[in-house]
Amino acid sequence: MTIQICRNIDEIRSLVKDYKSDRKSIGFVPTMGFLHEGHLELVKTAKKAADFVVVSIFVNPAQFNNSEDLKKYPRDEARDIKMLEQEQITALFLPTPEMFYPKTFQTWVDTSGLTQKYEGEFRPGHFKGVTTVVSILFNLIQPDLAVFGEKDFQQLRVIEQMVEDLKFPIDIIRGKTIREVDGLAKSSRNVRLSKSAREKAKKIYAAFRDAQALYRDGFLEAEKILEEVNKKLLNLEEAKLEYLALVDENLEAVKVCKDDSRILIAIEIEGVRLIDNCTLRTV
Ligand code: AMP
Repeated sequence: MTIQICRNIDEIRSLVKDYKSDRKSIGFVPTMGFLHEGHLELVKTAKKAADFVVVSIFVNPAQFNNSEDLKKYPRDEARDIKMLEQEQITALFLPTPEMFYPKTFQTWVDTSGLTQKYEGEFRPGHFKGVTTVVSILFNLIQPDLAVFGEKDFQQLRVIEQMVEDLKFPIDIIRGKTIREVDGLAKSSRNVRLSKSAREKAKKIYAAFRDAQALYRDGFLEAEKILEEVNKKLLNLEEAKLEYLALVDENLEAVKVCKDDSRILIAIEIEGVRLIDNCTLRTV
């Protein structure tokens, strides 16, 4: 089955209309492209749960608070299409910024509570861009379910909250974080890591493993666990820790840890910003 590629709003609307009239369920995976196995796992999850799978690739300018970061964001449409062909998805939606944000655009979706801390603090306006673009995509694609990665845990929680608040009739499915062999979370941004930055970046997961081991050994105090993680990352040269926290599902800081308490981290290594998270329970 060849993928139906939609490059404009009319095309995607008419395709969705056809799917709906066939009573087919639609699974949706929004991405910013430069795909990797993390994205493909989300696609596989969607395929298992829905008749048709629609993927979107859109580097959403509204969620970048830094124009340099937007400019440097890696892109390779031809390669992405090849990867998706192998996954046998049904349709690929490739909108442009002009389509989504015409000069007359003036309506934003903004979630308040969950977006205030962590990514929201370091990337002002980021989540407003995310929730707005995801709402536009949900309205166009009208999926029955959409898959989002735990890799961006705060984003996932914000989307879950938005879907609940705005009553989108869409099931949000969580996809596990897919990692490189040495534990670094797969990310489109990883190609920007130099060799030395890549070596430093693997310390993030090593620190997570230490934290999980401490928890397994009976240490429940968040402060103690965070201290250990911090030690591992403190001496990295040309690295700037933006935040490091242990939180619950509502992103509230925890004092006494439980299985699902989650370490959240954002760190800039040699100019490349990485985010990651893990629960203390290792399954
Ligand atoms: P992005 O293209 O980075 O905007 O990500 C698109 C979707 O893929 C989001 O739901 C991300 O959370 C998810 N994602 C990104 N990296 C990974 C990963 N390593 N494992 C699983 N999901 C991921």
